[in-house]
Amino acid sequence: MARLNDHYLKLRAGYLFPEIARRVRAYTEAAPDQAARVIRCGIGDVTEPLPAAAREAMHAAVDELGERGSFRGYGPEQGYDFLREAIATHAYQSRGVEVAADEIFVSDGSKCDTGNILDIFANGANRTAITDPVYPVYVDTNVMAGNTGPADASGAYEGLLYLPCTAANDFVPAIPDEPVDLVYLCYPNNPTGATATREQLQAWVDYARANDTILLFDAAYEAFIRDPEIPRSIFEIPGARDCAIEFRSFSKNGGFTGVRCAYTVVPGELTALTSAGERKPLHPLWSRRQSTKFNGASYVVQRGAAGLFTDQGQAEVAALIDHYMANAALLREACQQIGLPVYGGVNAPYVWVGCPEGVDSWGMFDRLLQQAQVVVTPGAGFGAAGEGYFRISAFNSRENVEEACRRLRQALG
Ligand SMILES: *Cc1c(COP(=O)(O)O)cnc(C)c1O
Repeated sequence: MARLNDHYLKLRAGYLFPEIARRVRAYTEAAPDQAARVIRCGIGDVTEPLPAAAREAMHAAVDELGERGSFRGYGPEQGYDFLREAIATHAYQSRGVEVAADEIFVSDGSKCDTGNILDIFANGANRTAITDPVYPVYVDTNVMAGNTGPADASGAYEGLLYLPCTAANDFVPAIPDEPVDLVYLCYPNNPTGATATREQLQAWVDYARANDTILLFDAAYEAFIRDPEIPRSIFEIPGARDCAIEFRSFSKNGGFTGVRCAYTVVPGELTALTSAGERKPLHPLWSRRQSTKFNGASYVVQRGAAGLFTDQGQAEVAALIDHYMANAALLREACQQIGLPVYGGVNAPYVWVGCPEGVDSWGMFDRLLQQAQVVVTPGAGFGAAGEGYFRISAFNSRENVEEACRRLRQALG
């Protein structure tokens, strides 16, 4: 008799986005004349067309595959050298950050990488900390791996250490006063749009080195950082190569959410302990994990990603970021004018807004849907500390953002 993975039954089944979809559906069924007016500022998906540099590189790659002499089948599981080298050079070394091409593992997404990374850590043996609010993937993958107990009434899983991120700590968690083994950090942050300063990240690296902790650092939004003082990579912090893994993606900077390409950096120096207490490097484990369970990202897609690092590609990525960040500025301004507390949206494509006195985050969601036909994401959906906030995504057309701002002012102003 086959037994299933009981841990899946602990999951609070896809609560947030299905619930948003359900409420939008219920509203548009009850008010069909409003259906066409609905503006979605909820899900963090890009909207603008793919950069020409990526498209042209992919077209050329498709043509290569159409010729016997340049046809390619399975590629290296860790990614093609041309892309690993382009990443090492342009994303790291040109900024003075030490990351070698063979420390970069190309994949088809950071969502998978941040989940799959648990394969190389002992199930149930690590104390894990996550921020609250949080990108739900980190939590749910730990639940699936059996690293937690059941969820309580507030949705918090037994066994995880939740690190509250609030306005009082600028949405960067305090260093825990106990040792933990794994910590997920995401800066610039989804959902709060907060960034972490060099000093804050240095404190995390110092803590990690003192406690033999590994930092799982999600830098999916690094390209949105405008302030040159804010680190774009955890590896800008001295000591991080001993204690951190970094996840990056082409999804948000290159508009690759549908194309699919990302990468993970596992430094050669990074180690952890065996159950017998022996210290071993993690790089060979992740390499083995990828070559066993993954057959590499598509050649065409990797050519497209490499296209983003050409001069033309860099200019086009910069234009995309400018577009989304100008949206963020408009959304910030509208919410500030209404008189709501506004965070994020300066070095990140998310604006994190405090609800008016006496309204909770789902209450605010309903009110904006019904009065403005604008769909936001209720903060409580990202964790208990997200209660009292809502997230507005800047990933949208200018037209939609301008209209959303107009309606927010009308409904709340
Ligand atoms: C969008 C996003 C990613 C990127 O995921 P992909 O699978 O590469 O598209 C990673 N982390 C966070 C927090 C994100 O919001």
